Amino acid sequence: MGKVLIIGAGGVGQVVAHKCAQVPEVFSEICLASRTVSKCEKIASQIKRPIRTAAVDADNVPELVRLINDFKPELVINVALPYQDLHIMDACLETGVNYLDTANYEPLDEARFCYKWQWDYQKKFEEAGLMALLGSGFDPGVTNIFTAYQLKHHFDEITELDIIDVNGGDHGQAFATNFNPEINIREVTAPCRHWENGDFVETDAMSMNRKFECPENVGTYNIYRMYHEELESLVKHIPSIKKAQFWMSFSDNYLKHLEVLQNVGMTRIDPVMYQGIEIVPLQFLKAVLPEPASLGATTKGRTCIGCVCKGTKDGKEITRYIYNICDHEEAYREVQSQAISYTTGVPAMIGAKMMMTGKWTGKGVFNMEQMDPDPFMEALNIHGLPWKETAL
Ligand code: NDP
Repeated sequence: MGKVLIIGAGGVGQVVAHKCAQVPEVFSEICLASRTVSKCEKIASQIKRPIRTAAVDADNVPELVRLINDFKPELVINVALPYQDLHIMDACLETGVNYLDTANYEPLDEARFCYKWQWDYQKKFEEAGLMALLGSGFDPGVTNIFTAYQLKHHFDEITELDIIDVNGGDHGQAFATNFNPEINIREVTAPCRHWENGDFVETDAMSMNRKFECPENVGTYNIYRMYHEELESLVKHIPSIKKAQFWMSFSDNYLKHLEVLQNVGMTRIDPVMYQGIEIVPLQFLKAVLPEPASLGATTKGRTCIGCVCKGTKDGKEITRYIYNICDHEEAYREVQSQAISYTTGVPAMIGAKMMMTGKWTGKGVFNMEQMDPDPFMEALNIHGLPWKETAL
């Protein structure tokens, strides 16, 4: 039993608040804080248990420290944006509170996300006797745990990893992103990087694609190779992996809109002068696109996210696939959010549960694959993200 502070009242924050509220035996008190307090209040009004709300600018460390000292949580769940990660980690260190997030730090003025900045906090968290759990969403998050689980139970060595993220859902909008538009567009327009023979190899964004047939009639989709943050931690912590790639499905319609937006300069992240004021085109674009949290009511279809692992067991080469399928409409019925927010928010709650119940402990900064996958895998089945595995 303990108190949890959730920071960020967007699509993912909504799911985390609902899911923590469903587990009162672990999360005895919940506070949801964000820049716009009315968004916290709207989410609180959907939840039967009373939850506290607060306004906070998570880029302002003294403000965060005041809130944490006032509420006194055991853990802060950061589901604001990657730009806030280091500020929230600083506030946790100052107040002696554990930390969890779902996306690694990225500077606002440079579309380059990597773990270095947060791994550099290792010593500080270790010395403070605190735990920071990084990337407890679906990808990163569950995909790291899927890989660790395969290694623990089925392989002597994993040598090749393909993480495949298919969203077979349709939100009915001409163009919208399923999570924060700014972060999403920065991610998909970045050059692709995959791991091969001890190094990351860079190729043009979206330059490699293939078809993937999902199980359980989810459908066959075009998947595009791109860089994703869990590749960096997985090849570090599972050094037998010689090749690691991340693939995501995109519709032709999404890619057509994205190409036009790029061509006309709307995805730029450097400021331009407009009528005497500086604006960042991508931030302006975010302001006119639908909010991911608003897509739930209209999104239909299913997601299918999983890992194909190749390697050896008892001297034999084997390949296995492990995946979860999540239905957008079912997610909406449960927590009034679409499946992308759901598949991120549920693992954030489960990671928090692992820490609050002492199933996962440690001093320092950890990625998911460093933890025992078994209790987390069990919790996925209990809390709405059941998984299946099969030999290929
Ligand atoms: P949203 O844009 O829907 O929500 C982000 C929320 O953070 C908003 O409510 C926003 O407030 C708040 N926020 C932004 N800046 C600040 C600040 N300075 N102080 C306080 N609050 C702030 O994004 P999502 O919910 O879709 O995504 C949340 C996080 O989850 C992101 O980091 C994203 O990268 C990550 N993610 C991870 C995935 C995974 O599988 N690992 C998958 C999908 C997302 P306001 O409304 O006032 O702007």
